Amino acid sequence: MNTISRRHFLKLAGAATALAATPTFLKAQNLSGRVVVVGGGFAGATLAKYLRLWGGGVAVTLVDANPAHISCILSNLVLSNSLNLSQITFNYESLKQLGVNFVQGRATGIEKPNNTTWRVQIAGRTPLDCEHVVLAPGIDFQPITGWVASQVPHAWEAGAQTTLLKQQLQAMPAGGLFIMTIPPKPYRCPPGPYERACVVADYLKRTKPGSKVIILDANPGIVAEAETFTKAFTQTHAGVIEYHPNVALLAVDSNQRIAKTNIGDFKADVLNVIAPQKAGGIVTSAGLTTDGRWAPVNPLNYESTIPGMSGIHIIGDSQGTGQPKSGHIANAEAKVCADAILRAFAGEAPDPAPMTNSACYSPITANTASWLTAVYAYNPATKTMDLVPASFGEAASPTKDNYEDMFDWAANLFADTFA
Ligand SMILES: Cc1cc2nc3c(=O)[nH]c(=O)nc-3n(C[C@H](O)[C@H](O)[C@H](O)COP(=O)(O)OP(=O)(O)OC[C@H]3O[C@@H](n4cnc5c(N)ncnc54)[C@H](O)[C@@H]3O)c2cc1C
Repeated sequence: MNTISRRHFLKLAGAATALAATPTFLKAQNLSGRVVVVGGGFAGATLAKYLRLWGGGVAVTLVDANPAHISCILSNLVLSNSLNLSQITFNYESLKQLGVNFVQGRATGIEKPNNTTWRVQIAGRTPLDCEHVVLAPGIDFQPITGWVASQVPHAWEAGAQTTLLKQQLQAMPAGGLFIMTIPPKPYRCPPGPYERACVVADYLKRTKPGSKVIILDANPGIVAEAETFTKAFTQTHAGVIEYHPNVALLAVDSNQRIAKTNIGDFKADVLNVIAPQKAGGIVTSAGLTTDGRWAPVNPLNYESTIPGMSGIHIIGDSQGTGQPKSGHIANAEAKVCADAILRAFAGEAPDPAPMTNSACYSPITANTASWLTAVYAYNPATKTMDLVPASFGEAASPTKDNYEDMFDWAANLFADTFA
């Protein structure tokens, strides 16, 4: 372990263990039914867990393409060698102990064999029948001419992509150029790209003197924590980070690592294309979007609002309520959705006034971080989840205390989701 102390690591592990032992005192009686959850990330794993904790006899099957989930949260710290991937990898053993049936496989389609049943197709496996399907597959990327992610990583899904970008950064010469592109919003984790620029700049200053970071942002300005990141770019990392707003990425030369944009071509030593995003593939292929990007849902129960799709729910980054795409709020949406599904099994209407909340911590240097938080409440007049203005908060400035708190916050979220 490098800049993450043993104490931090024990904190992460310890919180997970403590919550694993939480008694199932919330178990409701006499409920039965079948739910199939596709995607075991922050949204899907939380949903599966809380359906079992609260739902008594409800049969819950969680399907994920991988045997364990690698968290995007904290994954920028893998790039700077402060964490390794194993510290942010979570298996489904605790969920299995709660009675979740875990199936490793890729969901490929959804059918409706009769009026009350949905059937989820899994590649190479027996299909799964249920009354409620919950889709939580995260994001997919929109294509860009010439862009090959195995050469020019996004690292916006953690795992092999994170390792690839880290290896490219390690191999970069001193005095080299790291270029990243930021897609138009909405995208996964509003402050995340700016955080990455800071983490990479800090790492390059320490290990590759004379290197530079160029940010090509499709948005008209910094999307989240504008004051904090402006200061980080112009003061903390002055002379290293160069920020360009309003840059449209038109094409990529993946062999030469060139970003072709409306303001010219940019050739990098390491090119990181965070491509424009849309709902995970199963959501779009099942016809659950109207714009080809995000799934319209009723925020009271996250059920699709597309005619004929009742009983299919979409949570996490794939849903299109306008709430930010964060792991913290995905966890909150999952609890609202689990509660609504259990009420439906009991013949009841969903809670009419759900609230959700979000938090993001952003490392700015190897030992300071900032944070951002907000609460959302259901507005019955517009049927939307609206920001509660008084709840909005940002760190006054990046501090060491925030950096420490970041690990406590993440440990709690990881435990509440996977343990
Ligand atoms: C660098 C970075 C930093 C971030 N920092 C923060 C932060 O500080 N705070 C915060 O709250 N959020 C943060 N986020 C955002 C957060 O990671 C995402 O919002 C969150 O992961 C979304 O959860 P999800 O469950 O919708 O998707 P995911 O967590 O991506 O999970 C999707 C799961 O679905 C599975 N899957 C997909 N398709 C299929 C299929 N067809 N069949 C089976 N399985 C499938 C995948 O294997 C995956 O396990 C960050 C993101 C990044 C990239």
